[in-house]
Amino acid sequence: MSITTWLRIIDLFAAVCFILALKGLSNPKTARAGNLVGAFGMLVAIGLNFATPGMHRFALIAIAIVIGTAIGVPVARYVKMTAVPQMVACFNGVGGGAAALVAMSDFLQSRPRELAIYQIVEVVFGIVVGAVSFSGSIIAFAKLQELMTGRPVTYPGQKLVNGLIFAAMLAFGLLLCVDPTWQTALVVAILALIFGAAFVLPIGGADVPVLISLLNSFTGLAVAASGFVLHSVLLVIAGTLVGASGTLLTRMMSKAMGRSLANILFSAFGSVITASEDTTLEGRSVKSASVDDVAILLAYSRRVAIVPGYGLAVAQAQHVVRELADLLESRGVEVFYAIHPVAGRMPGHMNVLLAEANVPYAQLHEMEQANSEFSTTDVALVIGANDVVNPAAKTSPGSPIYGMPILNVGEATNVIFMKRSMRPGFAGIDNDLMYQPGTTMLFGDAKDSLTELVAAVKRS
Ligand code: NDP
Repeated sequence: MSITTWLRIIDLFAAVCFILALKGLSNPKTARAGNLVGAFGMLVAIGLNFATPGMHRFALIAIAIVIGTAIGVPVARYVKMTAVPQMVACFNGVGGGAAALVAMSDFLQSRPRELAIYQIVEVVFGIVVGAVSFSGSIIAFAKLQELMTGRPVTYPGQKLVNGLIFAAMLAFGLLLCVDPTWQTALVVAILALIFGAAFVLPIGGADVPVLISLLNSFTGLAVAASGFVLHSVLLVIAGTLVGASGTLLTRMMSKAMGRSLANILFSAFGSVITASEDTTLEGRSVKSASVDDVAILLAYSRRVAIVPGYGLAVAQAQHVVRELADLLESRGVEVFYAIHPVAGRMPGHMNVLLAEANVPYAQLHEMEQANSEFSTTDVALVIGANDVVNPAAKTSPGSPIYGMPILNVGEATNVIFMKRSMRPGFAGIDNDLMYQPGTTMLFGDAKDSLTELVAAVKRS
């Protein structure tokens, strides 16, 4: 067999690794193995590039790999779980930028007028999608990292302005197809960068993770386009996998939030805050309890549901919550965790968080199963969750979360909310459940309160 045939076979092997990686990542039990298989496939793909005849500038590539590794390893090890969405935004932006640069450099190195029309279309696609993804991801990162306001940035006539930028970008893209000059390519790239930023500005912080998933799928498509430009089957397969899985993830996230993608992208959700710390001052009051009261209630229950949310991740209370669950189980209490698909700030956030504390998978009950169990549950212990248990999603047609499926914790005999204040969750809306007679508030940081609860249950 010729060297080219061998290289093709290895190419295919790396692509199969990527597919198996995705399969592995779809289940918490096989996720680690899936990740390793994907990393191995990537290693093979990089090695393959070095083995490909005609490859040169090894020193430059080696320097780039060293810099990338020096940045990537500490970031992956030390970034906190709650900061993963912005890390993904960053990586995604870099990927999009790289795809745009590859398309641009390929265009500049070739003789544009000799390129077939389909090749120019691929170049234009790579530049546009890569640049939109790059600048959009940078704004998404700035919002999530709170380098700028997380609220939607809007102004009168914004949709028209964005529409005009989009139209100009398309027009210059078409011009580039018929008149392929580097000046036109540069204008297309600049317009795409402006459009990416303008598109993301009006999207609220709570919706940014969905947006990142969408941008991620765009980047995948841009990479696939680069694959066509560079005649690399592996890039086409890898890019298409990212594009397809990103699109599916975006759909799943918007479905779990009970909203259409158009509503997420264009409704400036989160711009109106209807609740504040002053809510209790508007004539409504809540019942709060001491740690000892809650400990006794828990210790003498038959069945307890733990409902984790974003606040559990912020407090990094996953280990101590497991300690509490183990302690209760040792006293004969049945404990399960009710997992909402969009609790936290990224898909699977609660699963990953609780897996860190080695919570048994069998105890993690998905929304549908948990909802059938609340009516026979003595205590629903809601830890740092708010929107995902807010009944307004079912009862208030005007509410921004109306239509989102929720965990029906109100069906449990007692509901305990563990949070620091009466501040709302990410959707910025009040939660009626906190004012109901069966609900008790246990105020404080989740980790501190849980640590005290563990001690109090041991005493009781
Ligand atoms: P929420 O954002 O609704 O509520 C979190 C609550 O945690 C807050 O009310 C806050 O109250 C409390 N909290 C914060 N820090 C602490 C702490 N240290 N100790 C105790 N409590 C704390 O979270 P949910 O998980 O219920 O809902 C997720 C939201 O994010 C939904 O609106 C969802 O649509 C959105 N979203 C989720 C995505 C995903 O993929 N998971 C993607 C995009 C959006 P206080 O400040 O009073 O303590």
